[in-house]
Amino acid sequence: MLGIDTMSRARAYNSLPKTVKYLQSYDWLDFRAYSKVGFRTFENILPLLTGLPPITTRVLEEQFKALEKNAHRFMWNRFKEAGYMTAFGETHMETFFRFYELHPTDHYVRRFEEELWRGNYVCSGSMFPERHLFDYILQFIRAYKDPYFGFFFSNSFSHDYPGSPALLDKHLIEFLEQLRQTKSWNSTFVVLFSDHGVTYGKPRNDKQKEFYYEERLPMLFMQVPDDFKEVFPDEYFNMQWNQNRLTTVYDLHATMLKILSLSTNTRQSKPDACPKVTGLTEKISSKRTCKDACVSEIYCTCQCLINAPNTWLTRKSLNVAVSKVQQISQAIKTDVKCTKCAKLKYEKTNRIHFYTRGNKTWYIVNFDVSPGYKSFEAILEYDGQRFTHLVTEITKAMADQSCVYAYQDKVYCECIKDNKCT
Ligand SMILES: [Zn+2]
Repeated sequence: MLGIDTMSRARAYNSLPKTVKYLQSYDWLDFRAYSKVGFRTFENILPLLTGLPPITTRVLEEQFKALEKNAHRFMWNRFKEAGYMTAFGETHMETFFRFYELHPTDHYVRRFEEELWRGNYVCSGSMFPERHLFDYILQFIRAYKDPYFGFFFSNSFSHDYPGSPALLDKHLIEFLEQLRQTKSWNSTFVVLFSDHGVTYGKPRNDKQKEFYYEERLPMLFMQVPDDFKEVFPDEYFNMQWNQNRLTTVYDLHATMLKILSLSTNTRQSKPDACPKVTGLTEKISSKRTCKDACVSEIYCTCQCLINAPNTWLTRKSLNVAVSKVQQISQAIKTDVKCTKCAKLKYEKTNRIHFYTRGNKTWYIVNFDVSPGYKSFEAILEYDGQRFTHLVTEITKAMADQSCVYAYQDKVYCECIKDNKCT
């Protein structure tokens, strides 16, 4: 499994056109409505690896506690118990560095990443980190015959917007071709996936609504080995079918465990967060809803956003959204003496859209505030009488506010001097 951070299917088609063409020429499956279940990386990768619901905390200590508590649920441990050789690595020792403390797999690239981290992590030995990671994967595969399970993640080219994912295009093909030549494709699934699309930065606050969808629909490509196609033609047929169905991180989790159960003749376990999910090898209904697939309203893409007309209700939704953000900001605890968060002032509206389902309406309100020129996108549920807030934070640039106590609050705060303080 090779993940590339912040790579929606649309962004993959735009910035990795040669890779996409290459995958198509070898009949890789391309899941067109693969949906994320949480906001950013951690909230999507953990459910993928463990089948648990997203952990919403951004506090590193709390994240690590959750990792520690659920270490036995990690996919690589299931494969390891079944006799697979396992490996894990990422290019930018930041996202999952805490995994290493748990000695997650038989092989992992921590030492190497630590060295990169100390120096220039974009280049090392005249090579960029992805090339090192690709070589590591190839060495791992050449060293062990089947069965093996590897989970790898690349983030240096694509994490920020605009970033330069296009620079990875030809190297990715080169790697995939080297991988193909090892003949591992005959008996090994290869999964090229992402955790989410662009979550912040300029395009997320564009007047157009497209990036709302883009953020929620990461890429998922899959190479199905010939051996599998021959022995399990029905399962393969269903996988092809499901390319045009709503699928999620939990489906991918269940699919990996299904592959494990088929190859070891053991019972398949289901993702705890969504036990009704059976994976991509069973036919998924065209009537499947986000609720069926355990995708919360906030990340659901099964509706068409409509431009909101300038009515009293639309203006009201904006007022509610702005005051909610101001309220959050004013309640933030700072841990640097004599600092506080500035009162956020409404600057301008970027866009307001809505959709309806049943007797409810949802407003998606995207607006800028100052100081700091932050942008927010609030999702408000309206039941005909009251608005309920589901605020998501989307800034033009990653905020790094040093006076704030809790990491998750940073985005809502612009630190200023508290003049009342002596
Ligand atoms: Zn990410």
